[in-house]
Amino acid sequence: MEKVLRKIQMVDLTGQYEKIKPEVDQALGRVIASAAFINGPEVKAFQSELEYYLGGIHVIPCANGTDALQVAMMALGLQPGDEVITADFTYAATAEVIALLKLTPVLVDVNPGTFTISPGAIEKAITPNTKAIVPVHLFGQCADMEEIMNIARRHNLYVIEDTAQAIGADYIFAGGQRQKAGTIGTIGCTSFFPSKNLGCFGDGGALFTRDAGLAGKIKMICNHGQAVQYYHDEIGVNSRLDSLQAAVLRVKLKHLDEYAGARNRAADCYDKAFSGHPEIIKIPVRNPQSTHVFHQYTLQIQDNRRDGLRDYLKSMEIPSMIYYPVPLHLQKAYQNKRYKQGDFPVTENLCSSVLSLPMHTELDGNTLEYITSSVLKYFTH
Ligand SMILES: *Cc1c(COP(=O)(O)O)cnc(C)c1O
Repeated sequence: MEKVLRKIQMVDLTGQYEKIKPEVDQALGRVIASAAFINGPEVKAFQSELEYYLGGIHVIPCANGTDALQVAMMALGLQPGDEVITADFTYAATAEVIALLKLTPVLVDVNPGTFTISPGAIEKAITPNTKAIVPVHLFGQCADMEEIMNIARRHNLYVIEDTAQAIGADYIFAGGQRQKAGTIGTIGCTSFFPSKNLGCFGDGGALFTRDAGLAGKIKMICNHGQAVQYYHDEIGVNSRLDSLQAAVLRVKLKHLDEYAGARNRAADCYDKAFSGHPEIIKIPVRNPQSTHVFHQYTLQIQDNRRDGLRDYLKSMEIPSMIYYPVPLHLQKAYQNKRYKQGDFPVTENLCSSVLSLPMHTELDGNTLEYITSSVLKYFTH
């Protein structure tokens, strides 16, 4: 095999940058020349462009996705002891902020095919202390938002969407109407970490809400609890997006849908290569009620062969990742007498079988062919 391939990466940010370099460099130069590094015009322009992209909603930029989740819970006035239901199968940030605010994280299992939080499990976990549900739109597609919103309405609960992995995805309601991920619940939270679908060149995040009053409160909390400078109405945090990041995000937002298209083409190619082997390789199930923006392309490898495949791919210089190796309820930091091994069988099974393949906007046909044929070769040997 010819050694012409560039080194295969999980995420190819350099390749992506090369294609938009003139636009990005110009935008960065503009910010540096203006010296308006914090809360400059770029931040306001990005905010209103994202508001428009999301279909008209208040966007409040902040420093990162974890802060967005924390500020959301603060803005909703959640109090120590309040229970917040979230998925056991997610990045720890989701549960971390719940615990940090001395709220009680209540973990529930996920759907085996789509990997998103199970509405049935949410319903069973509700108690008189439950105040909010945090669905995570894992790997790039929406959780079952229509059912989750119905549950929330019946029990009078807030819904905080963690859309760090699914910005740009559409949720499709039974009646056919579409809404962007993160714009359906009480508050949506996202991250602009470099490897996310809309990533900047450092840290960044944002909150979304339709409620103008809540938007004001979120903005105030992100700014040390002040609505008027030096008058602090409540205890807030310092969480802001800087102008250099906003300038990069403005360029990348214009390409976001095209990037999702490239990710979908790569996913289709993987699906096609692997769909004939369901007994050993399970391809990701697509939620028919959502479009998919493939933050990750994640297979389930049966018969305990996942780790062997991973080692083999490594020997072929193909990176792969396990998102996530340990369920939250078995993490040292989140161990709790309420939970034990075996409580969340779907998540536990996923943690021992999932494998994410390289997924980004720059995967070409040759690279995909090399990856898929290498995976298949491992199983036919
Ligand atoms: C990345 C991520 C976060 C945290 O975002 P940061 O910007 O890294 O703080 C939260 N939740 C999920 C599901 C994520 O993937």
